[in-house]
Amino acid sequence: MKQSGEPEREQQKSMERKGYVYIAGAGPGDPGLITVRAERALREADVILYDDLVSLELVDQFNALKIYTGKRKASHHFEQEEINREIVRHAVDGKTVVRLKGGDPFIFGRGGEEIEALRNYGIDYEIIPGITAAHGAGSYSEIPLTMRRISSSVAFCTGHPVSSIQVPDTDTIVYYMVASSVHDVLDAVAAKGRPGMTRVAVVQNATRYNQKVLTGTLDEFRQREKAVYSPALLIIGDSIGQFIRHNWHTRKKKVLMTGGESSRYSGRDCIMVHFPCRRISGSDLDAVHKSLEALDSYSVLLLPNKFSVKYFFRFLYDSGRDVRSLAHMKICTGGQAAAEELKENGLVADHDLEPDPASGYAKHLRELSISGERILLPGSNHVDDSLVGELRELQNEVTPVGVYAHEVRHDDLVDLDFIDEIYFATPVCVRNFRTLFESIPERIVVSTADRRTEQEYRRLFRA
Ligand code: SAH
Repeated sequence: MKQSGEPEREQQKSMERKGYVYIAGAGPGDPGLITVRAERALREADVILYDDLVSLELVDQFNALKIYTGKRKASHHFEQEEINREIVRHAVDGKTVVRLKGGDPFIFGRGGEEIEALRNYGIDYEIIPGITAAHGAGSYSEIPLTMRRISSSVAFCTGHPVSSIQVPDTDTIVYYMVASSVHDVLDAVAAKGRPGMTRVAVVQNATRYNQKVLTGTLDEFRQREKAVYSPALLIIGDSIGQFIRHNWHTRKKKVLMTGGESSRYSGRDCIMVHFPCRRISGSDLDAVHKSLEALDSYSVLLLPNKFSVKYFFRFLYDSGRDVRSLAHMKICTGGQAAAEELKENGLVADHDLEPDPASGYAKHLRELSISGERILLPGSNHVDDSLVGELRELQNEVTPVGVYAHEVRHDDLVDLDFIDEIYFATPVCVRNFRTLFESIPERIVVSTADRRTEQEYRRLFRA
């Protein structure tokens, strides 16, 4: 018999917002290889729990609370049990959760275990497939996994643990998790009677800017003592052609963008690598909050680049405010990308001060007679001294506030060995870069957005 009070509780419960979980594949590394459906889920998410192999460039685009559940960070190592508990905790709390996994959730992804936990708690979920590493590696290193007359079957196997290594009778075999067991796998393949001339490839960092492909025959690989770096796949089969070492992905120019806009380098001829920018945190937050408290006292909001817009508005919204609290200010942007990002927030800039390559902002500021104003200048944690100088010269009172940082996490540092060209968008980008890299190899072509940036580059790297 139902106890009194229970229907009421039931009703109350059904009125509460129900949590929902997407178990989604992020693809193998290139942030462009996510599905439209997964991207939509990420946009909707309150919480994103992401793994090691998920691209940070991808995760950074979304506003949700992000929880790293990988194993590389020194500070904390999440066990599967703990991950399951985290997913359940947020979902029970009524949140929309995306559990984002490298590749496809159902290919060596432990997606099955997570679902079991959700079922136990009666939490609604769905699964969004992803491009698995084998498919990414196949396409990005020009290895057809099947090919008429050469390969009519393919198997995905694991190289770890060594006791689980299987050698199925397919024409092509792709081994996952081989970083520490390449030789065990090759021995097992040879023991199964595959000829020594069978073609073999190792694809490291498939689909990323630093993808590396090693090729040879089964015999050659067994004799070689080559270290294999994770993440890597071992592919075995004669559909591996002769030319993959110089495949389409290798041939493309790799351009490292520091703070710039991707639109500058669109097209088919290069791959863009983005230098990370992050929303600031920790003690720097005080300054941001103070500036938001004091919004009424400013007459101009100057947003010099896309990131300043993106992160300033996130702080504004997080503080419970919206664009109406900016109504009294003139809003200026520092170029088209910033102006476009501003539009995303429902605002059109009063003036767009695209900096002049030779004279910076000075010309615009004079023409528009921006003088005697109280200017709030959100930007990077490293203040752009020359811009502040130009503004102060015209008797403006300027308050720079850091809303984002060029900060590099753990093993997220760009490997310059793979980079052909570096683009510096601002002098601040050059300075940030200098804190991480002592020098830039001669081989790399450097370009800068304007004269001030060029000067800073010469001063710090070519003096
Ligand atoms: N669910 C993932 C696989 C997770 S298991 C998927 O569908 O791809 C982890 C293994 O995947 C790694 O040890 C490596 O073998 C492989 N892997 C994942 N991303 C890779 C990449 N970008 N390049 C090469 N191998 C990758």
